[in-house]
Amino acid sequence: MSTQAFDLICIGGGSGGLACAQRAVEYGAKTAVIESQRLGGTCVNVGCVPKKVMWNASSVARAVADAADYGFNVTIGDNDWPTLKHKRDAYIVRLNGIYARNLEAKGVVHVHGAARFIDAHTVEVNGKRLTAPHVVIATGGVPTVPDLPGAGLGITSDGFFSLAQRPQRVAVVGSGYIATELAGSFHELGSQVELFIRKDHLLTHFDVMLGKSLMRETRAQGMLIHEHVVLAALKDESGRKTLVAADGREFAGFDCVLWAIGRSANVAGLDLKSAGVATDDSGYVVTDDYQNTNVAGVYAIGDVTGRAALTPVAIAAGRRLSDRLFDGKTDRRLDYNMIATVVFTHPPIGTVGMSESEARAAYGDAVKVYVADFTPMYHALTTRKSHTDMKLVCVGPEQKIVGCHIIGVGADEMMQGFAVAIRMGATKRDFDDTVAVHPTSSEELVTMR
Ligand SMILES: Cc1cc2nc3c(=O)[nH]c(=O)nc-3n(C[C@H](O)[C@H](O)[C@H](O)COP(=O)(O)OP(=O)(O)OC[C@H]3O[C@@H](n4cnc5c(N)ncnc54)[C@H](O)[C@@H]3O)c2cc1C
Repeated sequence: MSTQAFDLICIGGGSGGLACAQRAVEYGAKTAVIESQRLGGTCVNVGCVPKKVMWNASSVARAVADAADYGFNVTIGDNDWPTLKHKRDAYIVRLNGIYARNLEAKGVVHVHGAARFIDAHTVEVNGKRLTAPHVVIATGGVPTVPDLPGAGLGITSDGFFSLAQRPQRVAVVGSGYIATELAGSFHELGSQVELFIRKDHLLTHFDVMLGKSLMRETRAQGMLIHEHVVLAALKDESGRKTLVAADGREFAGFDCVLWAIGRSANVAGLDLKSAGVATDDSGYVVTDDYQNTNVAGVYAIGDVTGRAALTPVAIAAGRRLSDRLFDGKTDRRLDYNMIATVVFTHPPIGTVGMSESEARAAYGDAVKVYVADFTPMYHALTTRKSHTDMKLVCVGPEQKIVGCHIIGVGADEMMQGFAVAIRMGATKRDFDDTVAVHPTSSEELVTMR
């Protein structure tokens, strides 16, 4: 069997693997990317990109619903899901092509197939062997399907993007960002949505204000949220699905059940044992601050490490790793603190840094919190309302800002700039001394008392 030698092999052509490989070739490293499915990985094919298209579509639906309040004479029709899907899919195919051409132009060898380790520095794909002193595991994650009778009757976020028609009655199981985002898209595009959550609020990993506020908004929009539901089974009854709870309650009549209960490391088939690479109890590849695994010359980046599962995180970790390995920047690594993120719900959420409870656990009475809540001016003329809630979490006598949390129209685009300031160490005084931009929602963040 022939063996091809490289300086770097990236297993996985998603956000992390592509970024790592493309940075490495810039430094002259002979690099291969192995991808078993479509280039671009989760983000491009079944994650951020198609999800944002659906959020954009539902934002249009909301604007159309408000149009009459702004004096437009509009007739509101249904959303044509197949047309939307067709255009969304075509956009993604274009992106897949751009990724392939970029790799070719930069001189990265793209191998299509599933890789498995033979030893720490050799992988096999399509019956051929590739070897390199540096191997990066960037295989991402997969949606979790619960181990329940009938669970296979449901779909996951991957299945959401395959739906050829919009189901009319939908159950979304989960309380995290993927559950709330996809529930919102279904709802705005015309489905009847019911959310099933194990606890009593949404977004349990975020500042509690965000979850509570989103719950109010979600219910006000007409979605049902069933709290404290622990599911035991899913049944099909004449084409309609019934969720069975552990306490015996049954929720019947759904056209579609979507599991959005978390994701796990995509390591099946990699044969990590052959490379001697260690995983934690949840199956994530264990890495140190520099993305090193326990095996010299084998690294892991992105979702497969279980740390901050976000596209820009995978990209940043991959680029920094190549800077370190091939550009002599021996201390280059990703700082996982203060990573801003957005939840594309309606209204959207922007958040960075510590939640209030995390800050109180770390700093006790040194924490001071500022909040604002208001109805944005956009809704002064609309019948339909949405609310904005903001929170700044400050610490110490200088009131250093350690957390900023916003739910409200525009929060998605607000967050990036504030994240820069907060990461640079901004204090409440810096915010107070910044003259407001008026009339905006973001001005509330620099006028809090
Ligand atoms: C519904 C949804 C919405 C999301 N929205 C956002 C968002 O708005 N913003 C954000 O920042 N993040 C978002 N994410 C998360 C984001 O998509 C991931 O954090 C990101 O894609 C992780 O990149 P990665 O390189 O680690 O893995 P991936 O992008 O998953 O890439 C891994 C690749 O490895 C390939 N692979 C796996 N095993 C093998 C093998 N043995 N051989 C060869 N190839 C293999 C896979 O096919 C895959 O293409 C979302 C995720 C989902 C599911």
